[in-house]
Amino acid sequence: SHILVCGGTGCVSSGCEEVQEALKEELDKQGLTNEIKIVETGCHGFCEKGPILIVYPEGVFYCEVQPEDLEELVEEHILKGRILERLLYKEPMTKENIPSYQDIDFYEKQQRVVLSNCGKINPESIEEYIAQDGYQAVGEVLTTMEPQEVIDEIKKSGLRGRGGGGFPTGVKWQFAYDAEGDKKYIICNADEGDPGAFMDRSLLEGDPHKLLEGMIIAGYAIGADEGYIYVRAEYPLAIERLEKAIDQANEHGLLGENLFGTDFSFDLQIKAGAGAFVCGEETALMASIEGERGMPRPRPPFPAQKGLWGKPTNINNVETYGNVPEIINNGAEAFSEIGTEDSKGTKVFALTGKINNTGLAEVPMGITMREIIDDIGGGIDEGKDFKAVQIGGPSGGCLPEEKLDLPIDYDSLLDAGAMMGSGGLVVMDEDTCMVDVARFFLNFTVSESCGKCTPCREGTKRMLEILEKITDGEGTLADIDKLESLAETIKTASLCGLGQTAPNPVLSTLRYFRDEYEAHVEEQT
Ligand code: SF4
Repeated sequence: SHILVCGGTGCVSSGCEEVQEALKEELDKQGLTNEIKIVETGCHGFCEKGPILIVYPEGVFYCEVQPEDLEELVEEHILKGRILERLLYKEPMTKENIPSYQDIDFYEKQQRVVLSNCGKINPESIEEYIAQDGYQAVGEVLTTMEPQEVIDEIKKSGLRGRGGGGFPTGVKWQFAYDAEGDKKYIICNADEGDPGAFMDRSLLEGDPHKLLEGMIIAGYAIGADEGYIYVRAEYPLAIERLEKAIDQANEHGLLGENLFGTDFSFDLQIKAGAGAFVCGEETALMASIEGERGMPRPRPPFPAQKGLWGKPTNINNVETYGNVPEIINNGAEAFSEIGTEDSKGTKVFALTGKINNTGLAEVPMGITMREIIDDIGGGIDEGKDFKAVQIGGPSGGCLPEEKLDLPIDYDSLLDAGAMMGSGGLVVMDEDTCMVDVARFFLNFTVSESCGKCTPCREGTKRMLEILEKITDGEGTLADIDKLESLAETIKTASLCGLGQTAPNPVLSTLRYFRDEYEAHVEEQT
């Protein structure tokens, strides 16, 4: 018998460390320390209801557990075998109906592929990862497949980059494989900086070995012997767990020289970034690893030809690499059966804002936004009406009610004026002013602009000034037109993705909520 205690950052902030302490004391008091094992796991995703505790062998899902509940929980559940109903998410219909993970509406429509181990295993134990078929994919790849075969398998799966752009991963690997170079690199972009996003953090904290395995496979595929994980310094728990995972992988011969008796060698290092949003842009990220100021460089040359220290480099984000072991283990075909025609697999979203169930959800591509918000997210907070959802962070857009039934995939979101981005979803209710929302995101990009090119450095500031004028009630209809034309110019003339996408929140709110802008300027015209 064992008890899982969530140790994700969300649950840490709601007090899981104190709960774990109290549980230890209680088990000790009852002389059960040797019989019941406590396993600290990564995030279960249902952060709204933390701290979460799952008691096995039955798998009973207890939520919002407080330290003072432990005495009763151990007494009732462990000693007397009775479910402590007041700590259940919902009441069982019958005594036999023990609510577990799958019975909870938050999880019903989810399909956990990348997050399959999160909340299930102790992320600090390589043995637990191996017990879930961990490092099986890397063993298979190294001993039975040629690099080109690995690339072909990834191409066949239809996996596209989960960091924002949605570029086909296999094609990206092919470019790096084909590039000439005596040395090549693999980089993981774990510089998650969008307001409201914590998808990567949860995987890094909850299942770091999965990322390592994906990166080793990518290294073998393109012919790289060295990799970097660029992770924001604001994620101390993620960094700590990655460090442990790398040490363990080295001890187990899964990193280092001649892996699995082959002539393939691979080493991994962590580089902690200092929290600049622009360092999520791949050329700025590489400059930062090289010790330079994190500023984007013009492309071409692309990283696949001339990347880190001028060598061919493949960069993917955390979730992209996290899919790789799954594709190898279950086959490209099984992977491509999930999702839509052009967007395969699942996507992890971070649900925040005015929604009942905030947390992390992994869903098949093609699900509608309405299903995510209503069925998984439990609808709008305090029974209010939905107004809009911001998808894709400061680079994405705001979608209104009429777009909620759109199947979520890379291309339909772009058509609707938003983008997948890395997966942040901020839900807004009827009380939200959409001009304020646009101003919030623009304010963010203005302060994060690196200043290298004029359209972004100056243009976004001018846009913000106009927006402030409008929200202060001093704008005119001509200002709205000016805002729109500036936005289009910045989109086309900026050097990197930050500037090219910075106007999106303004453009999408203008597209769907123009009346709100006009209402702000009405008295002036
Ligand atoms: Fe820097 Fe903005 Fe230009 Fe990108 S678009 S290089 S962030 S100034």
